[in-house]
Amino acid sequence: MKPLIHDSSQLAPLYARYRARLCHNDSQLGDRLLAGKMQQLAFAELSAQFDLILLDAYGVLYRGKKVIPGAPEAVARLYQQGRAVRVLSNNASQTPEHLSKQLHDMGFCFPQKDIITSGMAIADSLAAAPWQNQPYYLIGSEESLLAYAPDQQRLCVNLRPGAGWQDARFLLMCSNRDYYGQQQQQQVESLLAQQPLPIVLANPDLVTPEESGAVSVVAGYTAATWVDRFHCPWVGLGKPFAPVYQRIHQEFPHLSPQRCLMVGDTLDTDILGGAAQGFVTCLTLSGAYAHEQNLPELCRQRAIRPDFVVTSIAA
Ligand SMILES: [Mg+2]
Repeated sequence: MKPLIHDSSQLAPLYARYRARLCHNDSQLGDRLLAGKMQQLAFAELSAQFDLILLDAYGVLYRGKKVIPGAPEAVARLYQQGRAVRVLSNNASQTPEHLSKQLHDMGFCFPQKDIITSGMAIADSLAAAPWQNQPYYLIGSEESLLAYAPDQQRLCVNLRPGAGWQDARFLLMCSNRDYYGQQQQQQVESLLAQQPLPIVLANPDLVTPEESGAVSVVAGYTAATWVDRFHCPWVGLGKPFAPVYQRIHQEFPHLSPQRCLMVGDTLDTDILGGAAQGFVTCLTLSGAYAHEQNLPELCRQRAIRPDFVVTSIAA
């Protein structure tokens, strides 16, 4: 059973930690985040001004199992108009193949090569210091393990025959799926009590919306509670952090950041992360803030103002 959060205000200090870290690395980011004009425009008119459109998945293309009305047609129009389009998702528990099939079944026309997930940043990040060749404890689904966890038979202590989970030198958090209520929690917490191991956070999202309107916690929230309780160091790979954007920069090395539009439904991952890359940002109200009564006040509290606001990518 996933723990639910009924008072989303308790998430603010946890998200503020992301902002503080990114602003620490970029002294002008705070000013840029406050300079967003939150201009309201039809998405078709807005998207025509950019060469590359990055679309968050959950809350932009679909919500739960439901497609956002008109979103598949809006995406098809972008391709017809010759725009470069990429899905940029913090999903580190599904393979790109699985996500691609899910989107195809929903009526979207994305080729699989245009889907980028934070899970794809794992192998690149862990191939370098300080993580290279270090045994790790993986928190994630079997799918994420097979798809993303590098060198699983040799380094992942959950899988390595004969290896003790006490051998882990860091935690790799892909998702909480298949995790709640399991023996893992006790293992990890006893491990962290002995030594505050670093946490590599592939999905920094704190919560995900449920059909009921409540939100349930996901990997970022669990990581944040461990960071607070055990004083673990941590690094983020997914939005709003830089590693997930590396493939974009590799694929479009000559693109001016101002020709790229980042579209997402949350301020603290999509808009913050896009602004940190120098991209123009667009908040869509088709996801996390679909029921938000006072968006300007929320943006003031978070000190994050998107450049543009749309009702949905179909509007
Ligand atoms: Mg989203």
